[in-house]
Amino acid sequence: MNSIYNCPHCGKKSFTPWKKAFAGQLNSPGKVCVECGQKCVNGKGATIFNAIYCILSFALIVVIYLFSPRLIGTEYHWVYFYEMPISAGIILLTFIVPKIVNAFCFKLSPTIRIDAVK
Ligand SMILES: [Zn+2]
Repeated sequence: MNSIYNCPHCGKKSFTPWKKAFAGQLNSPGKVCVECGQKCVNGKGATIFNAIYCILSFALIVVIYLFSPRLIGTEYHWVYFYEMPISAGIILLTFIVPKIVNAFCFKLSPTIRIDAVK
């Protein structure tokens, strides 16, 4: 069975969602497959998703900042009280969401980093 937890090198199902979540993207060193000892990372799909997600959350933070009541001058607007928690939440999600997506979506691929190959 060819699931997203199969090693791209040996084809064995050697990854768990947890391990896959921390395997990183194409530009990261990746995680070692317990079956064949070769390194694997989350593939192109995950890398593209993460890049888009990071840009979107950054854009959202900028938008919140631009429409901040502190700048507009309406201190009693509800955003005034929630701006910091919302921004902090978005930053937190920027770290968490790609991990969850990596854990449950997209296929693994061999690492492309030269220094990661023995
Ligand atoms: Zn393997």
